Amino acid sequence: MARRISIFGATGSIGQSTIDLIARDPDAYEVVALSGGRNIAQLAKDAMKLRAQVAVTADENRLTELREALVGSDVQAAAGRQALIEAASRSADWVMSAIVGAAGLEPGLRALQTGATLALANKESLVCAGPLIMRTAQAHGTHILPVDSEHSAVFQALIGEDLAAVERIIITASGGAFRDWPLEDLAKATPAQAATHPNWDMGQRITIDSASMFNKALELIETKEYFGVSPDKIETVVHPESMVHALVGFNDGALMAHVGAPDMRHAIGFALHYPHRKPLPVERLDLVKLGQMSFRNPCETRWPALRLAREVMQAGGLMGAVFNAAKERALDAFIAEQISFPAMAEVVEQVLSDLSYFEGHNPAEITLDKVAEADHLARMRADEIMAR
Ligand code: NAD
Ligand code: MG
Repeated sequence: MARRISIFGATGSIGQSTIDLIARDPDAYEVVALSGGRNIAQLAKDAMKLRAQVAVTADENRLTELREALVGSDVQAAAGRQALIEAASRSADWVMSAIVGAAGLEPGLRALQTGATLALANKESLVCAGPLIMRTAQAHGTHILPVDSEHSAVFQALIGEDLAAVERIIITASGGAFRDWPLEDLAKATPAQAATHPNWDMGQRITIDSASMFNKALELIETKEYFGVSPDKIETVVHPESMVHALVGFNDGALMAHVGAPDMRHAIGFALHYPHRKPLPVERLDLVKLGQMSFRNPCETRWPALRLAREVMQAGGLMGAVFNAAKERALDAFIAEQISFPAMAEVVEQVLSDLSYFEGHNPAEITLDKVAEADHLARMRADEIMAR
């Protein structure tokens, strides 16, 4: 029987890689919903190719454009935030959550509430609302499968293992575009320079977050929330080649590493076929050609986001939502060339300090409304700080 699947953020980098895999075996899947933003042509093309029930653009002003692009097909057109939430509430077996930013939280949550397996690329969901999302999956007897490459790697290293035997989890980081830049040049870095990645081909926002290591910071928090390990067991190491995606260290000294070419279709395909393994169209590594791999300590002067992530993990409560929202606004301002590259971390640090009262929230009482409130206040505070 065909599996019913939906892809939120279908027009993005992860969404397109997911479609690439699905389209190789069209009879195996029945597509319920695809969502996108402003790239209507791509959304309509994929929705027609995959015979989706509904295509949703998050932009409510583009309904007519989407309808016109879908003329002659059976695909329904919908637009706006409510339509997106409605599409996420439609029953499916497997849902890819690949919208970028906190905007991806609610669609993923709705999908879990229908009982779907959630393939989670949207790391912001776990950063902003880890306890809520994990609790929702549990309450509906469904699974969340991590699609971030590092977390998929850790997940795979843990299969058949006892979490109590885990001594440490090592998350690798490429170091992004400015890994080897002189520190004094960072103040002059442009968004275009930050948006080039040495190894991975990803969306603009996560690529810039890789240069600042805000992406790694989100991933450390994601590790804590998803695997339920204490922050002092989570380490970061700079690994410029991006071949080892993560390592898990056990109490007998064993270190299990996940090694592979930097291609998100591995993590996506693993989540798509779990609990089975199926052939995937990813490069097979030639270790001899690779020759060597290197590892170094991350410098917190270059990447203050790593220190902030530790503070956020210690603080708990709703500080993850505050952190992510402040980061999103600072990133918007950097992309608009309103603030410098190093100023992003300064803005986020100030917001964390100003809104530290969100630390006190009991994880068991975190709701979507509370997350939205923390998110909203953090965005406002970041904007006030940046207006000065
Ligand atoms: P992207 O920018 O390429 O695509 C984002 C998608 O989200 C697009 O379909 C866009 O239309 C949609 N979108 C953007 N804003 C929206 C909004 N407000 N409401 C509804 N839809 C909106 O991003 P990406 O690189 O594919 O990343 C997607 C998610 O996956 C992010 O959370 C990212 O951190 C995570 N992730 C990405 C990669 C990667 O290799 N690209 C790896 C690991 C994790
Ligand atoms: Mg990652």
